[in-house]
Amino acid sequence: MLKRRLQNFDQKTLIRYLQAEDELQQELFQLARQAKEKVFGKQIWLRGIIEFSNICQNNCFYCGIRKGNQKQKRFQMNTKEILDCLKFIDKANYGSVVYQSGEATTDYFKDYLLNIVGITHKKYPQLGITISCGEQDFDFLKQLKQAGADRYLLRIETANPKLYAKLHPKEMSWQKRFRCLKNLQKLNYQVGTGVMVGLPGQTMEDLINDLKFFVDNKFDMFGIGPYVIHKDTPLGRDPKIQKWWQKNKEKNFNIFLNFLAILRVLLPNVNIAAATACDVFNPLGRIKVLRIAGNVIMPSVTPKDYRDKYLLYENKPNIDEGADKSFTDIVNKIKQAGLEPIFGEQGNSPFYYKRIYG
Ligand code: SAM
Repeated sequence: MLKRRLQNFDQKTLIRYLQAEDELQQELFQLARQAKEKVFGKQIWLRGIIEFSNICQNNCFYCGIRKGNQKQKRFQMNTKEILDCLKFIDKANYGSVVYQSGEATTDYFKDYLLNIVGITHKKYPQLGITISCGEQDFDFLKQLKQAGADRYLLRIETANPKLYAKLHPKEMSWQKRFRCLKNLQKLNYQVGTGVMVGLPGQTMEDLINDLKFFVDNKFDMFGIGPYVIHKDTPLGRDPKIQKWWQKNKEKNFNIFLNFLAILRVLLPNVNIAAATACDVFNPLGRIKVLRIAGNVIMPSVTPKDYRDKYLLYENKPNIDEGADKSFTDIVNKIKQAGLEPIFGEQGNSPFYYKRIYG
């Protein structure tokens, strides 16, 4: 039985299905869809994402908002702008908000983030609050939790520390990132992680180890996306990587879809978000994910004026539209796919409840 072989981490089966196409792929998708629908039915939870600052102290070799990209104009939204976004989220009845930014650990940034989380929780106590602002220390994470944050998303990027070291400068440490994830679990956050699929140098064994890492470490939610090249980064400037990426992008997107399908079979009751980067490969990329394995989507609420300044990768979709259009488009696409957008619910991970309360 395929399900059993995947759950047993049978190496041969995993390699075969990670690369599956056509009928073999449909068999996998069918299994993932069944697993997902058994827990979530056709329901899709919505989170309005506010990308509130592109100021970043890190220099990841793949990311367009890395500190070293001097072509990138920087911004940080003010409280009034955040409040306007929250008003929209409330009107749209999204159920949850995600605050995402580059990584900063200054006192100024910490005070700012604590303040907006506090305001959000006071003004909209029913709203789920997710933070995705990089590696932070234990005490600050504790303060954020006390101020009202419910969930934290911190992608490990790859479970292989050696591959991590090739994609990041030496000041950045895989172990430190992992410790931060463990701290988040200690603080009883709903903890999300993820990787990029289709990274230069990534092997099938790496992807299998990523899946194993996810299962072993009991994460509640996942934000996993395909790697997309950005020309103003060390990876994107390398002609060999440019050529490799162009040549393999379709194949890698296919592997990405298979990876998510296998993850869903392994962990039926976690939250899996459909990453925006999927729409670079296909205008219905995120919807594809929702039809196979995903149960969460994060429509952008970032004001139109800032969207072209939060470019992690090239050809980011929907940067010339506002929150209204993102809302209508996504809701229509979800319905057209025969799925059901759920309004006004936080959409917490069932895996989390089981992990915490047994
Ligand atoms: N600064 C926070 C952090 O490091 O977790 C959150 C923002 S960070 C830009 C969000 C995610 O974007 C990263 O975890 C990474 O996986 C993804 N990302 C960055 N560059 C990318 C690229 N070129 N292609 C696809 N995803 C990318």
